[in-house]
Amino acid sequence: MAAVTLEDWQKMRDGLSYRNQAFIDGKYVNSASGKTFECISPIDGRLLVKVAECDKEDVNRAVIAARRAFESGVWADQSPAARKAVMLKLARLIRENEDELALLETLDMGKPVTLAKAFDMNGVADSFQWFGEAIDKIYDEIAPLGNTALGLITREPLGVIGAVVPWNFPLLMASWKLAPMLVSGNSVILKPAEQSPLTAIRLAELAMEAGIPEGVLNVLPGYGETAGQAIGMHMDIDAVSFTGSTEVGKYFLQYSGKSNMKSISLECGGKTPNIVMKDAPNLDAAAQAAGMAIFFNSGQVCIASSRLVVEESIKDEFLEKVKAFGQAAMQPGDPLDPNTLMGTMVDKTQTARVMGYIEAGQKEGATLYSGGKQVRQNTGGEYIEPTIFDNVKSNMKIAQEEIFGPVLSTLTFTNADDAVKIANDSVYGLFANLWTNDLTKAHKMARKIKAGTVTINNTNGNIQLMPFGGYKQSGIGRDGSLHAIDKYTQLKSTHIQLD
Ligand code: NAP
Ligand code: MG
Repeated sequence: MAAVTLEDWQKMRDGLSYRNQAFIDGKYVNSASGKTFECISPIDGRLLVKVAECDKEDVNRAVIAARRAFESGVWADQSPAARKAVMLKLARLIRENEDELALLETLDMGKPVTLAKAFDMNGVADSFQWFGEAIDKIYDEIAPLGNTALGLITREPLGVIGAVVPWNFPLLMASWKLAPMLVSGNSVILKPAEQSPLTAIRLAELAMEAGIPEGVLNVLPGYGETAGQAIGMHMDIDAVSFTGSTEVGKYFLQYSGKSNMKSISLECGGKTPNIVMKDAPNLDAAAQAAGMAIFFNSGQVCIASSRLVVEESIKDEFLEKVKAFGQAAMQPGDPLDPNTLMGTMVDKTQTARVMGYIEAGQKEGATLYSGGKQVRQNTGGEYIEPTIFDNVKSNMKIAQEEIFGPVLSTLTFTNADDAVKIANDSVYGLFANLWTNDLTKAHKMARKIKAGTVTINNTNGNIQLMPFGGYKQSGIGRDGSLHAIDKYTQLKSTHIQLD
């Protein structure tokens, strides 16, 4: 029976068993060194389980298994329709186990369990289902060579690919990579973030049950500086797809240059500007969306709309509405309580980082308009209130750096050109939002905004069905849509002389 109430979730938690080993060549194994690291829940600081700490030697073992599986053709040579069937079964197994997966995610990184289920796990299943359904509908090309030759342009899998992912949507970010990687025939080595390894470890078992052959999916929990670096530097990994900070994204470009020139795709940080013009169609809806877009997942979202760029004449009224929404709907609560919409920060380090930014904003002269404090400290967990700064200048730290917490910086403008200028005043270019009733103005502004996605009269967009990724230092390459497959395949040109 599906878990519904707080008591259901608590009961399920008390009976939960945790998979805690690495998954290599179709088997759960300890790390080669025997070392483990502690998996601590940010809900109450309790130790959930100790998890295998993988390092270079484990990466070597996983690459050998992945390469053997790839070259044998056990997966890569299956027909697209056969791979589709496995992907659809995996999607079904994820849905059948969504309560357990959602609870693991929540205990591990503190997001509200109802959202972990409805948003994360539903999205994970959708990702495998969507790429599964797509793969036997993609056709290759014939070049226009005339009657004397036949030019075939075919897509081939790359081989062995590393996926290194963050902790904010642990299994969802992994699935955005694994689905297009696997469906196109590659073998994969997944390294979840050290803060949130539990769902990735469990997924390996479901993938086996769905029919993914041994060696095709390997999961290596471990630290970035060791296991992550070993993946980046490995001479027999053909590509790495990374989601995480811009700082670490740059490391992967260096690893590639220092090793085998593996292809690197990067989904990195963001500082989404949410531009609200005074002619927005519905200011109440816009304010609610603005609050949701910064406080959802405690602001630990790469596309979090962390800069509210609002037209001067409506600023006071608008800010009041955003504050009211935050106070009414987004107060941090117990993530297992179905009524909670905002949970915890991922760990103590992240709490300290975010509180540091709140202090920096005040020191730089911005006005702390609401929130700004840690709450529920008696629980032993990592909770921060929805926080809004007013009177922020674009050159302030809180307007430039990615805070990755529930902290909104408010800036104002008096004409559309200035709004675009503020929006583009960033090293990032992942996402931007714009609210206006004037479609001509919207089109003109959207063209000038340097971001991979611009959403108009909405803050979410659709990052499954449309390409998703960044301009500037927000990354290289796109997840989402059929374009995601471009990163995990290469083109073969075969020229056949006919006379
Ligand atoms: P992170 O510190 O960059 O870590 C991401 C991954 O890289 C983790 O698995 C991490 O392992 C690993 N890593 C860390 N240092 C490494 C190194 N020196 N060499 C190789 N791998 C290394 O990012 P995070 O703190 O987990 O996540 C937050 C960041 O992710 C934010 O900047 C956010 O914007 C970004 N993000 C972007 C998107 C997007 O699609 N654009 C989506 C979600 C998040 P450890 O956990 O062991 O450190
Ligand atoms: Mg954890």
